Amino acid sequence: MKLKVLKFGGTSVGSKEAIIRSASIISKWSKKYKVVAVLSAMSGETDRLINLTKLFSKNPNPYDYDNAISSGENVSCSLMSIYLNSIKIKSKSLMSWQIPIFTSDEHMKSRILKVDKNKIFKEFNNSDVLLIPGFQGINSKNEITTLGRGGSDTSAVAVAASLDAECIIYTDVEGVFTTDPNLVKNAKKISQISYEEMLELASQGAKVLQTRSVELAMRKKTKLSVRSSIKPNSSGTVVTEENSKLENNTVSGIAYSKDEAKITLSRVLDKPGVSSKIFSPLAKGNINVDMILQNVSQDGKYANLSFTLPRNDLEKALKILKKEKSKIGYKRINSSNNISKISVIGVGMRSHAGVAQTLFETLGKNKINIQVITTSEIKISILIDEKFTDLAVQKLHKAYKLHI
Ligand code: ADP
Ligand code: ASP
Ligand code: MG
Repeated sequence: MKLKVLKFGGTSVGSKEAIIRSASIISKWSKKYKVVAVLSAMSGETDRLINLTKLFSKNPNPYDYDNAISSGENVSCSLMSIYLNSIKIKSKSLMSWQIPIFTSDEHMKSRILKVDKNKIFKEFNNSDVLLIPGFQGINSKNEITTLGRGGSDTSAVAVAASLDAECIIYTDVEGVFTTDPNLVKNAKKISQISYEEMLELASQGAKVLQTRSVELAMRKKTKLSVRSSIKPNSSGTVVTEENSKLENNTVSGIAYSKDEAKITLSRVLDKPGVSSKIFSPLAKGNINVDMILQNVSQDGKYANLSFTLPRNDLEKALKILKKEKSKIGYKRINSSNNISKISVIGVGMRSHAGVAQTLFETLGKNKINIQVITTSEIKISILIDEKFTDLAVQKLHKAYKLHI
């Protein structure tokens, strides 16, 4: 049985016209393949559902919250199946509990553990296209869980990996670009990108693919590409193993994230064990800390410690740290969320110098102050005032000549 897994994001199923347009892509593939189409909710729907839950509680309980916010995907799958059947393509929508797609137990940030492919194969006896809702699964208690924003990409890759099929992500841009094409008009489409670079781009904010989807594709060696549902014949981007052709670029892309927050603890004792008292309770609370900066005070006894985390987790983190105040022993706690992170990424950085210098010069010339810097082998990230995000990305894109 020849199989393809296609994923359609929110804008690709966001209206009657979009569903019909995406259905024609499914229809074409279904002439030669059995197709699993993993769908997102119609664009704006997940936000609408989240806002509805917030009408009733600032802190909705995770079980009911996931039941509510996962429902958008079920609707788009049902609508797509109704339409496909109406044009005589044998289709069926399958809810995640029917397959099932098994996830870890926690809600809202759950991880896919296993996709049971037997049910999918069985359903293909009677259907040519199966519509599967992205962004969700069921846990060991038979409860609906969700995978975090943008999670349908991960659902699609997980289904593709379990079926050993190629995964094509159809979205509202023509592929992966050197930076967000909606921010920099002359951003260039990248025809091939390594899993590793894509992983950095995604994890640093390029939301065209959810980070976990790239992680999973890399681990399972799933064939993955990104294409436009509006211009399905344009070539898109193939995510692949690193090769010599890719290594020529020093910098391949720039990502930005406005979903950041910073916490500063002042006058923390500068002695062994203190960091662990700060970061262990945060890790237990499932909060991912990203950049960390420590300034030692003049007397050498105390330090100020700043770190960044996802903006969504700020309230939770503050609550945890305030509770632990006496154990940690800091004087004050401050936080800000008007910051953003810019990351310059490229496998060629391993062997080329001068990338950081260009970054400092460009931001200096544009009077943009750098608050925190972190580097890895193939990435430099900086934290800046959020209001300079667009300017910084545009100037850096030009400085690294990514438009050429
Ligand atoms: P979907 O609803 O199809 O999942 P998303 O909105 O999640 O789509 O992701 C596509 C968006 O990602 C694009 O519209 C674009 O604005 C944004 N984006 C950010 N960085 C990049 C990049 N480097 N290349 C392509 N798109 C990017
Ligand atoms: N509908 C979910 C979201 O908006 C999942 C997805 O679209 O990937 O985050
Ligand atoms: Mg998305």
